[in-house]
Parts: sequence; C-alpha cells; structure tokens
Amino acid sequence: MTVLVVGSVAYDSVTTPTDSREDSLGGSATYFSIGISRFAPVSVIAVIGDDFQERHIELMRSRGVDVSGLQRQKGETFRWAGEYYSADLNARTTLDTQLNVFAEFSPKLSAEQRGSPYLFLANIDPELQLDVLDQMERRPDLVALDSMNFWIDGKRKALNRVVSEADVLFMDEGEARDYAQEGNLVTAARRIMSMGPSAVVIKRGEHGVLVFSANTMFSAPAFPLDHVVDPTGAGDTFAAGFIGYVAATGDKTPEGYRRAAILGSVMGSFCVQGFSVDKLLTLTKRDIEDRFRAFTDLTAFAPLRDGDSIFPSSRPLCTSC
Ligand code: AMP
Repeated sequence: MTVLVVGSVAYDSVTTPTDSREDSLGGSATYFSIGISRFAPVSVIAVIGDDFQERHIELMRSRGVDVSGLQRQKGETFRWAGEYYSADLNARTTLDTQLNVFAEFSPKLSAEQRGSPYLFLANIDPELQLDVLDQMERRPDLVALDSMNFWIDGKRKALNRVVSEADVLFMDEGEARDYAQEGNLVTAARRIMSMGPSAVVIKRGEHGVLVFSANTMFSAPAFPLDHVVDPTGAGDTFAAGFIGYVAATGDKTPEGYRRAAILGSVMGSFCVQGFSVDKLLTLTKRDIEDRFRAFTDLTAFAPLRDGDSIFPSSRPLCTSC
C-alpha cells in the first residue's frame, strides 16, 4: 500500500562534540522515504532548488522511492544547521533554518498520489500539510503527522487545524509539552488526543518512546548503543518504521501500534549510527530483524501471574499489609 509523504528535502550542516558535516543530504521527507522504502512503496512530495544534486535524486530512486513529486524550482534548497552540544547527544540547538524554495512551494499531487491510502505529513509548514491533505481525493486510511517547535511557535493556528485531522501525531517530548502547554507528559498527550488524533507518539530521544492510543499506554526504550554518531533524522526514521509496519500489515490496533513502535525504534537506532542517511543505506533485512529480536530480549521479563507474589511469604513488609 503506497505511503505518500510531504516534508522537507534538505541540505543539513550538523556539528557534534567530536565531528561535523556540511551540506549533507537531510530533510524530514528524505529520512522518512529512505527508511520506509524497506517496508512499503513510498512517493515523496517536496521542493528542491537548482543546487540539489542529481546524485541525491538518483540515490532516493535507487531505494525504490517514487521521486516524480520532487519539484525543482529556481533558488536554493531548504537548509538546516544544528548542533549537539552534550556528550550524550540528547540536547540539540537549531543554529539556522533557511526555507529558501520552500517559502514559495505549492504542492501538486498527481491523480495517483491523491488516492494514496497512507499519508505522512512530515515536519514542514503546517499550511503545506493542510494543502496536501485538501488535495486527497478521499480521506486516507491513516493520516500521520509530525511537527516541531519552529512551527509550534510560528504557525500554531494552522498546526491546530492539521492536528485535528490527524490519526497519529508524532512529537518529541519538549514539543509535546510546548504544544499542549502542559508539563506533565501523560496529561499533555491526553490533551492533544482530545484535539483529534486517536494516537499520540511521544519521542524521548535516548529515553525511548511513549505511545498513547485508546485507553492504553505503551513505553519502549531506545536501543542502548555504545556509539552514537548523529541523532539527526532519528524522529523521521522512527516514523518510517512505525508507519512502515502499519502500511505493511494494515494493523491499526493498539497491539499493532506496539510492534510499530518497536520497528520505529529499531529504524531510529540505526539512523543515529551514521551521519545523514549513511547507515540507513547499508541495512539488510537481517540487520533489521536481528535488532527487532534484540529489542524483544531487551524488554522481556516474566509477568506476575495470578497467585504469584514478588514478596516472600515469610517476610511481612509491615504489620498492616
Ligand atoms: P529530526 O532529527 O527527526 O527532528 O529531523 C531533522 C531533519 O528535519 C533535518 O534533516 C532537517 O533538514 C529537517 N528540518 C529541520 N527543521 C525543519 C523545519 N523547520 N521544517 C522542516 N524540516 C526541518
């Protein structure tokens, strides 16, 4: 089932405490489409400038991404610069955002794209997200949405409208708190769900992810790695694994969302092991399945069955209990 994504295709400049890269391939739609191409056909809607290199289009095409919706316009490609300054790479500052050709972008969907059953509105101007949603010939089976502080601060009203149309919302924990104007994450997620989405996925970097759907809550850890190279794109690659699972199986139950979150965490964990999309390009099916199994081991523990107790019967804790 084809997944349509609208988002940024970018050149990123990233600095970590030990290394840096200038103008490497990035953007929310880029990470997402390369990540999800392992699980489902994907078609991308985005704008690129006349400086965007042909080899980067070819790279996406070589992963099976439908790039017919990449519109080339006069001007420079979207650029983002960020710096990770803490040793654990969990804290990031945006140094620069240059919308460039995105400032004038007007997405145009083909007849085929308008009928896509799955839509991912990746991090981009919420007005563009709404424009794409309006062009769909029928409501997709799943509308998923991502955003970030830049838009929460700058375009809250448009973001509210698109949030009210989404089934699944992805946000990182700081963004969810800012957006809901609520410090407690559980309350923040519930507040956002009351605006429309039936599931809210809160990404917490190296602390994992929380999935709220129906009346259930699921928590998955991030895969513990001994070396993180560059966390950029982990959120979009997480969304690729999550939506890839749903598109491949059609499973939108809370149980399915649990597996989807694990596949998302698997893909996100690979993303951070290289700069740009480097690591994603080397992954085999075996790598992905092995890490999925490693996640099962990481989180498995024996449940407390009826009649079991974790307290030795010979040692009462207190006189009243
Ligand atoms: P993530 O690390 O998952 O938040 O994604 C980072 C990617 O988002 C980078 O490759 C950037 O090019 C892209 N990005 C950063 N800021 C924006 C923005 N305001 N709108 C759209 N994409 C952005």
